[in-house]
Amino acid sequence: MKIDPIDRSGLRPRYWETTPLDKMSPSEWEALCDGCGKCCLNKLEDDETGEVALTNIACRLFDDGTCRCAQYTIRHQFVPECITLKTSNLEEHAYWMPETCAYKLLWQGKPLYDWHPLITGTAQSVHEAGVSVQNRTVPEFEVDEDDWEDYIMEEPV
Ligand code: SF4
Ligand code: SF4
Repeated sequence: MKIDPIDRSGLRPRYWETTPLDKMSPSEWEALCDGCGKCCLNKLEDDETGEVALTNIACRLFDDGTCRCAQYTIRHQFVPECITLKTSNLEEHAYWMPETCAYKLLWQGKPLYDWHPLITGTAQSVHEAGVSVQNRTVPEFEVDEDDWEDYIMEEPV
């Protein structure tokens, strides 16, 4: 996908280095998403250890080609459990979020990676860096839940 579905125009230069997460405007918050798609993959959580394993089985709304949610604005009609990430729930969800996720990185006080679209100016850079799950997933309706363990993958970083 060549066109960035996230509008990153008109943002203050390197605002993520100067503005705390809870002080960002809605457009600045949305622009933090690098489009890696990793948060749209199903995970397996061990009840006893709390360990989380990533699978390459994607949410039913995930478009593997564009690496985006196919119905982002109305996704809750189809996937009510999809999380709306906010500063108030970042801490609660950080344990399962991808290590390269911009929200998690900034929450941890870390910088963004050089391949982030906000830095490169192109949405393609996350895919070119090999960090996204574009063309790597299978739809959840194709895999029986009992077999999800067979689809565990390492997070591409
Ligand atoms: S893991 Fe983070 S950066 Fe990647 S698509 Fe999800 S919200 Fe965006
Ligand atoms: S509903 Fe959309 S944003 Fe939510 S997990 Fe599924 S594909 Fe991702």
